[in-house]
Amino acid sequence: MPNHRKEHPNLWVFEHPVIQDKLTQIRDCKTEYAQFRRLLNEIAGLMFFQLSRNFTTEEVSIKTPIEETTGRRLSSPVTLVPILRAGIGMTDGIQAVIPEARVGHIGVYRDEETKEPVPYYSKLPSDIADGPVLLIDPMLATGGSASHAATILRDEHMCQDVQMVCLVVAPEGVARMRKDHPDLTIYTAALDRCLNENGYILPGLGDAGDRIFGTL
Ligand code: URA
Repeated sequence: MPNHRKEHPNLWVFEHPVIQDKLTQIRDCKTEYAQFRRLLNEIAGLMFFQLSRNFTTEEVSIKTPIEETTGRRLSSPVTLVPILRAGIGMTDGIQAVIPEARVGHIGVYRDEETKEPVPYYSKLPSDIADGPVLLIDPMLATGGSASHAATILRDEHMCQDVQMVCLVVAPEGVARMRKDHPDLTIYTAALDRCLNENGYILPGLGDAGDRIFGTL
C-alpha cells in the first residue's frame, strides 16, 4: 500500500519499486513521447489496482458451466474523470484494469489575467454520484484547476466519494486541496520539492501534456 505523509494527511505516496522505476524513466528528458505515454498508463494501472482495494463489493449468485455458486462484484459504477488534457494520459492504463469504468471529462484553463480557473468543458455520466469517482491529473501543481474540478463534482454533481490520482504532486497543490477539500484523498507516485516561478513542478518532468501528446 502507499505511504502516508504526516505533514500531508490527505496524501498517499506509492513507493512501490516498479512504480518508482517507471517514474524515473518518465522524468528523464531523453524519454520519447510514445514511451512516456506507455509508462504513464502503466503507472496509472498499477496505482489504480492498489487504491481500488477499498472499493465495496456485493455478493451475487451465478451459474458456472457446472453448478450454481456465489461470487462478489463491485457494488457501484466507477467513473474516471481526467482533467483535460493531460489527465487523458492516464485513463487507458486504468481502463486496462477496469474496462467497464466510465470516463467523464472536465476542461479547466487558467485565465492569465485573473489567474482564476475557468471551466470550458464538462461531460459526466448522469449517475456519476452512485459510485467512486477518480479525478485524474498527472501533475498537481498549484491545485487551482484540480480544486475547481473537485468542486464541480461535489457541488454540482453531488459526488460523495471523490479521490484524486496524480503522477507527481507539489506541496503547494496538496496544501490547496486540503484547504478546499479536506476529506479528498490524493494518490501519487511522488511528492516533489516545490513549484518554480512559472508554475512548473521541481524536479518534475516538464509539461506533461506536451510530453504525452508530442506537442513540445
Ligand atoms: N503541469 C505540468 O504539466 N507540469 C508541471 O510541472 C506543472 C503543471
